[in-house]
Amino acid sequence: MIIELLSNQKELAVTCQDVVRLFFPDAEISLEHTEECELSLKAASYVDGSVIRGTAQLKEGGKFAAEQVSGDLESLPFPDDLRNHLKRLVKLALFRLLTKHTGQPAGPWGILTGIRPTKIVHRLLDAGWLPDSIEQYLTAAYEMSAEKAVLLTDTALRQRVYLLKGKEARELISVYIGIPFCPTRCAYCSFPSYSVENSASLVEPFVEALAGEIRAIGRAAGEMGRKVQTVYVGGGTPTVLDSEKMCRLLEVINDSLVSEATVEITLEAGRPDTVTMEKLRAAREQGVTRVSINPQTMNPVTLEVIGRRHSPHQVADAFAIARQAGFKTINMDVIAGLPGETAADVQQTLAAIAVFEPENLTVHTMAVKRASRINEAKDNFEISPPREVDKMLRLAHEAAGKMGMRPYYLYRQKNMVSPLENIGYARCGHDCIYNVQMIEERQTVIGLGGGAGSKFVEPGTWYLTSHYNPKDPETYIRRIDEIIALKVDKLRSFD
Ligand code: SF4
Repeated sequence: MIIELLSNQKELAVTCQDVVRLFFPDAEISLEHTEECELSLKAASYVDGSVIRGTAQLKEGGKFAAEQVSGDLESLPFPDDLRNHLKRLVKLALFRLLTKHTGQPAGPWGILTGIRPTKIVHRLLDAGWLPDSIEQYLTAAYEMSAEKAVLLTDTALRQRVYLLKGKEARELISVYIGIPFCPTRCAYCSFPSYSVENSASLVEPFVEALAGEIRAIGRAAGEMGRKVQTVYVGGGTPTVLDSEKMCRLLEVINDSLVSEATVEITLEAGRPDTVTMEKLRAAREQGVTRVSINPQTMNPVTLEVIGRRHSPHQVADAFAIARQAGFKTINMDVIAGLPGETAADVQQTLAAIAVFEPENLTVHTMAVKRASRINEAKDNFEISPPREVDKMLRLAHEAAGKMGMRPYYLYRQKNMVSPLENIGYARCGHDCIYNVQMIEERQTVIGLGGGAGSKFVEPGTWYLTSHYNPKDPETYIRRIDEIIALKVDKLRSFD
């Protein structure tokens, strides 16, 4: 289906695309007039004194419909933020129009299509709003369900203790280290990960280049009085490295980044077939405080379908190794909506996980990313319908509650099979601080290694600039001197 989406401002049309995709996920959207379109949409905003208006119109064949939403700027929070209020009203008008037109039930997140919805709550909390008023505002202004408004507000409240202020906000940073190699590529993966078998000759030069980047950034951060609060070693699958290389990197991390200010070091050991006692003991000795062992599902048939090449037994073995190695915080990731799975499969996975008694559970809603194998061969995979995925998330919420966990971070992704969310659950005292800093974007996070993203944040205004390392290891190795020089410059310019 081709839909034209026109507006009196191009920026408005771009923003409104996300609302149209809630109703027509597979449609081609044209932001210019096209004779071929089957559905024509027009969105506009107006300012009349303190009254602001968003309008949406629809034309399909001989049918015409329109919707208008208005508000008094003076009675809205942050009246100076006119541009965002106008966008919100236009999205709301379009959302209401398409809900009526399609007869499709409104999604629980309403017009909130951004990936970091907790940021809105933090902004309101900063302005002195009380939780009850925030929940009311979220349901009215974004047409979110009351259930999601409470979830969002509670999660943000739990995060407040980690959001830095004053001197600490300027001084403390976090570091992400990306190891872009994996044993095999999962069918849903869009991360920059390279099969270690096919890239064997790149691994050693990559580790050396990365060690150089870690040392240089550690030195530059130290000279500027910056201290590392948390380190997250992810990827890819860092534990795919042999123990000598993994230890070498962890030693460099310790020597260059870790100080008395460092409270957490996470090591992704996502693929259980890469976990050994030698590696995890060494990780403990190097001060790693948290590991992540990610089954995604405990169903062997699904594991085969998604190309993970490990069994549920290997998950159990890897978890036992992590405990024996002395880890007190172990995370497990699961995905709701994997190809061919029903809510009953997810329930079995959750029951199997509960036996391990992990401290963290991270539940993702399946997303079909453009660069994934699933997207390239959609017809070969049976994708779960949204209602089933919703059931899966509810089961996960219940299971996490029974394991003594509560949500501590939340984000949304583009292209989810159902417009829901990803939630990190944790037992009290086991929240992953890095995850909160990374999602809330109130701390500078420096990304080192393949495909790693850096976010330089200006404390107080929370203005941020992003910078990304090259994804493919070959380019990363070849350009390492230039990459280091650029990052040191960026870090200095934010001092
Ligand atoms: S383990 Fe993670 S990074 Fe590696 S292929 Fe699978 S999804 Fe991608």
